[in-house]
Amino acid sequence: MRKKIIIANWKMNKTLGEGLQLVEEITKELNTQTQSDVLKIIAPSFIHLASLADKLKLNGFEIAAQNCHHISKGAYTGEVSAEMVASTGAKYVIIGHSERRMYFGESNDLLAQKVNSALSNNLTPVFCIGENLTERNANKHLEAVTKQLKEGLFHLSPTDFGKLIIAYEPVWAIGTGVTATVHQAQGMHNHIRSEINKKYGKDISSTIPILYGGSCNPKNAKELFACIDVDGGLIGGASLNAPDFVAIVNSIGN
Ligand code: PEP
Repeated sequence: MRKKIIIANWKMNKTLGEGLQLVEEITKELNTQTQSDVLKIIAPSFIHLASLADKLKLNGFEIAAQNCHHISKGAYTGEVSAEMVASTGAKYVIIGHSERRMYFGESNDLLAQKVNSALSNNLTPVFCIGENLTERNANKHLEAVTKQLKEGLFHLSPTDFGKLIIAYEPVWAIGTGVTATVHQAQGMHNHIRSEINKKYGKDISSTIPILYGGSCNPKNAKELFACIDVDGGLIGGASLNAPDFVAIVNSIGN
């Protein structure tokens, strides 16, 4: 049985005070008894990682960074290394989010280096892949995602690959209010698992968690998470308010 995972990606939202308040509201609303099996991770801004880590851990959450630099240290003003992320108590790091790929020009090659750096610092990469609308409309979505997988991750040893979490996030669904249908989500998750199977074999392909992300909300979460190859979600907008986020967490397995 694969672990069910929900990750909140706060992006560039929430001051420290607002973040602390949101964590408070989420923990108050969560029915921890029924959801003890769900791994809940919150990814605030870098600047809040250390301040939120203790409070989150105390309340049964893990903490993730939204990015890290690919080099371990040096004269890179304004950047944050994987080692620095790990030193805050974070155990996870999102790598390759489409906003990083789009707005900051992050290539598969660079992302592969970030994955290496994260793993060397004992962080679990949450690696994001997903096609854009042009690729989907041209029926090139499977190809596009396979390329991201191969170039970003397939250099890893089986042992390292087995440590990852993958998030399928179709770019056209992120922050748009348009969600992938159950058929589209399950189809792609199945494709990703079969590509992993070809490269790393069944033991790894059947155990690696693959999350769905893209306009997930309390109304559509349940049917998306019920797909056989969907192991949870990476949640953006709906993770910024407690009732929606808690409803999404509670929709897993219910
Ligand atoms: C995301 O940014 O990872 C995401 C899934 O955003 P949203 O839920 O807002 O579409």
